[in-house]
Amino acid sequence: MDTQQIKSFVNDYVEEKRLELRELSDFIFNHPEVGFEEYESAAVQVEFLRKYGFDVTEKAGGMDTAFLGRFDNGEGPHISIFSEYDCLPGGLDHACGHNLIAAAAVGAGIAAKAAMEKYGIQGSVTVVGGPAEEGGGGKIKLLQAGCFDDMDAAMAVHPTSAVSRVAGGSNTSCKYTCEYFGKPAHAGNRPWEGVNAQDAALLFFNAMAYTRQMTEDGIRIRANIPEGMAGAIGSIVPYTRVVCSITAPSYRMLTDACTKVERCFEAGAVGTGCTFKVSKEMGYKNRIPNGVLGELFRANAEGLGEPMMEGMPADNGGEDMGDVSHLIPAINPHMTIFTDHKISGHTDLFREKVRTPQAEHMFMLCAKVMADTTLDLLLDPAKVEAAKAEQLSRMQAEYGDEYEKYMR
Ligand SMILES: [Zn+2]
Ligand SMILES: [Zn+2]
Repeated sequence: MDTQQIKSFVNDYVEEKRLELRELSDFIFNHPEVGFEEYESAAVQVEFLRKYGFDVTEKAGGMDTAFLGRFDNGEGPHISIFSEYDCLPGGLDHACGHNLIAAAAVGAGIAAKAAMEKYGIQGSVTVVGGPAEEGGGGKIKLLQAGCFDDMDAAMAVHPTSAVSRVAGGSNTSCKYTCEYFGKPAHAGNRPWEGVNAQDAALLFFNAMAYTRQMTEDGIRIRANIPEGMAGAIGSIVPYTRVVCSITAPSYRMLTDACTKVERCFEAGAVGTGCTFKVSKEMGYKNRIPNGVLGELFRANAEGLGEPMMEGMPADNGGEDMGDVSHLIPAINPHMTIFTDHKISGHTDLFREKVRTPQAEHMFMLCAKVMADTTLDLLLDPAKVEAAKAEQLSRMQAEYGDEYEKYMR
């Protein structure tokens, strides 16, 4: 089969759908909905996929705004393309550009399906609607519900600035809350009867400041006292709450930093005589990069004239595609919507850039490139096996013999 001919069909097909995809992207942009409340944004994609003949399961994984749009065309690999459509809270709305991710994913899905039908290419394609990427991790719930168990590879894209790139590793994270319980007393008359929880927090901050020097490169530890340090003047402060978050490029490094930070919490308590209670919440897992999928994506993007950064550069972000990449080979290339220089996502400026011709170029390009990459994999199942082997060996390198424990 002439793959160039197939890719040129995909190119023309996506171009034909430009207006519809623009409307989809604009609709989601104009109806910003935060995580798990993306009712209209999910519905418009469900309707779109049904119109193009996908078999759509709504409320996937028990979430109102999750969906799986599937197309089967005989025996073959099962490739998934991920859509995101939640916005940011606090009036930032689509300042992360998830409307572009949705247009790219849906566009890629319908184009891959059309090519599979036209050229008799076997296999399955699913467009995955994963809610609440910005907080809540819809993809993790889908993963835990077993929705990805029969998928062989996954891909998504995310808007960025400067040069497009096949994103490599990303961060994993966790969040702590530590409460110190002391005993109130009059600070002037009988301070010896008090136990100062504020001092415990300050001891924690000092211990953490020393500890930071002893952590590996790439680890970030941030902490604050949400209620501030304003204890009543003249009183020994009986209660203080500290929140602390840690990000690290790998689970192993995170675990090491956690052990150290937990010792610092204890230091605050031991030094002051407070009691303390620590709770820990894990964030998203870091991305396991995949060179096999990445190189296919790169070749297709460059084939359509998109300049791509060398290699698979890591970034400081964190995302729930990281969790997906622990189970199946996955990529999440970051594709530019503003080429001049780097600007920060989650800002008013970035939101402005989400509605430019360059942003439309991004989702059109990504629809084509993800469809092309899907078809490359369906046409050459050996590539799928190579991507799986790479994922497995990277998991083993990161987690050793216990890697399976970390897959879901
Ligand atoms: Zn974001
Ligand atoms: Zn995002």
